[in-house]
Amino acid sequence: MTKWVYTFGDGAAEGRADMKNLLGGKGANLAEMASLGLPVPPGLTITTEVCTYYYDNGQKYPESLKADVDAAVEKIEKSVGAKFGDAKNPLLVSVRSGARVSMPGMMDTVLNLGLNDQTVEGLAAMSGNERFAWDSYRRFIQMYSDVVLGVDHYHFEELIEMHKEDKGVDLDTDLTAEDWKLLAGQFKAKTEEELGRPFPQDVQEQLWGAISAVFGSWQIERAKVYRRLNNIPESWGTAVNVQAMVFGNMGDTSATGVAFTRDPSTGENEYYGEYLINAQGEDVVAGIRTPQNLTKRAREAAGATAPSMEESMPEVFGQLADVFVKLERHYKDMQDIEFTVQHGKLWMLQTRNGKRTAKAALKIAVDMVAEGLIDEKTAVLRVEPAALDQLLHPTLDPDAPRDLLTRGLPASPGAASGAVVFTADDAEAWAKDGRDVILCRLETSPEDIHGMHAAKGILTARGGMTSHAAVVARGMGRPCVSGAGQLRIDAKTETLVCMGREVKKGEKITIDGATGEVMVGAVKTLQPELAGDFASLMVWADKYRKLRVRTNADTPGDTQTARDFGAEGIGLCRTEHMFFEGDRIVAVREMILAEAVDGRKRALAQLLPMQRGDFVAIFKIMRGLPVTIRLLDPPLHEFLPREDDEFEDVAKAMGTTADLLKRRAAELHEFNPMLGHRGCRLGITYPEIYEMQARAIFEAAVEVEKETGDTVVPEIMIPLVATEKELAILRARVEAMAEEVFAEKGHTLTYMVGTMIELPRAAICADQIANSADFFSFGTNDLTQTAIGISRDDAGRFLEEYVRKDIFAIDPFVSIDQDGVGALVKLGAERGRSTKPNLKLGICGEHGGDPASVEFCHGAGLDYVSCSPYRVPIARLAAAQAALKG
Ligand code: ADP
Ligand code: MG
Ligand code: MG
Repeated sequence: MTKWVYTFGDGAAEGRADMKNLLGGKGANLAEMASLGLPVPPGLTITTEVCTYYYDNGQKYPESLKADVDAAVEKIEKSVGAKFGDAKNPLLVSVRSGARVSMPGMMDTVLNLGLNDQTVEGLAAMSGNERFAWDSYRRFIQMYSDVVLGVDHYHFEELIEMHKEDKGVDLDTDLTAEDWKLLAGQFKAKTEEELGRPFPQDVQEQLWGAISAVFGSWQIERAKVYRRLNNIPESWGTAVNVQAMVFGNMGDTSATGVAFTRDPSTGENEYYGEYLINAQGEDVVAGIRTPQNLTKRAREAAGATAPSMEESMPEVFGQLADVFVKLERHYKDMQDIEFTVQHGKLWMLQTRNGKRTAKAALKIAVDMVAEGLIDEKTAVLRVEPAALDQLLHPTLDPDAPRDLLTRGLPASPGAASGAVVFTADDAEAWAKDGRDVILCRLETSPEDIHGMHAAKGILTARGGMTSHAAVVARGMGRPCVSGAGQLRIDAKTETLVCMGREVKKGEKITIDGATGEVMVGAVKTLQPELAGDFASLMVWADKYRKLRVRTNADTPGDTQTARDFGAEGIGLCRTEHMFFEGDRIVAVREMILAEAVDGRKRALAQLLPMQRGDFVAIFKIMRGLPVTIRLLDPPLHEFLPREDDEFEDVAKAMGTTADLLKRRAAELHEFNPMLGHRGCRLGITYPEIYEMQARAIFEAAVEVEKETGDTVVPEIMIPLVATEKELAILRARVEAMAEEVFAEKGHTLTYMVGTMIELPRAAICADQIANSADFFSFGTNDLTQTAIGISRDDAGRFLEEYVRKDIFAIDPFVSIDQDGVGALVKLGAERGRSTKPNLKLGICGEHGGDPASVEFCHGAGLDYVSCSPYRVPIARLAAAQAALKG
């Protein structure tokens, strides 16, 4: 018989922390905390298998579930000494969702369930606190109506606002028992008016309504969006937790709060959190009242006057601090905690491994190694490679002039400039058009997720460090300034007003998520500092990884950046980018438009010294590290003039007319250039082009070896090879050129000739091609295009929908399609090495910096990955994790 329900409480539990798949993260950790002897209100967890069953069976529950829940509720009743639905001594519960991984804000919780017109009186009598009882009841009606019955929140908020206005008070805390009683009545009436039936008084109906709502919320739109953005499968389902209520709203010795055992923003080993006296549940994160600091230190640092918990409730704070230590020792990781204090007694309501910025992840991992909590390997596995991106992003140049508009909270680090937009939809639309935007909201909600994702940064006028905007932005790695209270964000007129200054939609602002500053205009940024914790972790990563990491770099500038990031060579240096620089393009165009070999050679002779100069610079920066140079790849017409005056310039240089050139240009037109006259096909038909490039490479290599004494081993890479013959012909020409240059210079050097594997035929015939190759580099951008038969430039129109419909789990240009394209890579690797066991294998293309693809490459036995300079550290860490996991 399947066990559908697990109980916890009173120092024991049926579940454990490692049962997250079954109990969800929240349920598993509640069970674990209960077993550890921490004060956890007793409760029960309905498993994720029930959710799966529910959706597989037309939204019906397993037969025995009702009886199982009844039995578990009875256990809670015994533990608490109250009875569910009892008019005199009612047990109240919360109904909480909990998926395997936390999905912040996605699922709705119902508190104070079990209250009705009778039990509220019982609660009042029992607690001796009428105000508390009616406050709880009205909260319950409000939440239950919203979450379970679908009556929108704002109806109730409006009633509260109107009542406060009538009474002439500002704060919820100014409302009395009578006020809440009156409002509870109005709430019920409102719900009845909206639904045409009364608010449910039967507590069993309430309970099962809430349970079904939690399961139902697995399929609401914002939960789906979150899952899609975070690659969480639909099939996982959520668990439901039903837990005895504890009350933070019982007066001034009660409170509720959220805390992290270390600072999730900086990683400092300092308790970090917020709390509210006489409040319940989500009040802290909802931004209705301004929460107070947890510690005295944090309060002083913030310049706040309202006492910290450390000051106002020193005894409970002490207990909380003990719990923090206990939890960290047990979980060996930083914890994110929810707690409630009821009449001076501490209750733990949640713990989980805390989300953190990349900076904090690094610091915590490195610190915990020093503290002896974890070892180096664990530390390497702790930091999500993709999250390093946050650290590699620019920060504001401290010397750049800045026009400060206002300050908010430093909610998520990193600096960003962009055009101001006021809605998530605008953010998404503008970003699609390639514009950088800053999304400005009063506060964000789960409905804004797509816009937050599209924006470069997020700015809110309300909300604290644990507000929705702050939590989500940190998770996404977007810079965020929250709670900029002086801002008036007017979404209607699409303006942002601050102390008389106005910024309109579309105007540029800059935010600094590390300081909370908001500036008018775009501010100059600086490259990140890569010493300290980052360097320590990278040293450990390098120790454990098997894959080498190279970079794709075309310019000396990129090459230097990549070296600073730890690149161990260049895996792809595209020579065509060099052709566009400055006045070279005229010579390039002369070469292309020349009618015959002579003209081409004349133009190429002009290009030779320029290419040689570039290679000299790159070889010098790489100081003996391998450099793979790809010979010219794109179709020639990409370089052609488009405007009349550009034709005139080239015509003048060539001593011909613009009209003649235009005719020649028209001849070069191709219907399908991606599959046209490009890659090695250029080399086959215009030998002089590759000869010039080979000459430039060898001359540069000789020059640098002679000058610096470093060994230079150029790896010359021929693109778009489909057959062994192509490579054999071109290899022979490169070798001939090498001999020629070595003879001229009286200096020989070692070099390699290899090919890109970027056509399915090449992968399939890799055993033949390997005869003429010293190395393969899998060009997975083109291989993806040619294997799937989609053009990257045109896929935008349908790819997103393909991903949404789950035809592709993820964009195959972002993460390698392991089943298809990946299989070709594996095949190519195996067949290539069947001919030459020592064949050097690498991958270049966007995938080289994608952690999942890096893991794949590790498994496929490649020697290295090559990626863009900023992704080099990500690839290093991903490679280490792949090695440690394998
Ligand atoms: P979320 O996943 O959105 O954080 P939770 O289930 O954790 O939702 O609940 C939201 C809030 O309700 C939490 O801040 C928690 O403090 C409060 N809460 C949940 N269950 C109880 C309970 N049994 N007693 C008191 N407060 C509770
Ligand atoms: Mg919530
Ligand atoms: Mg929670």
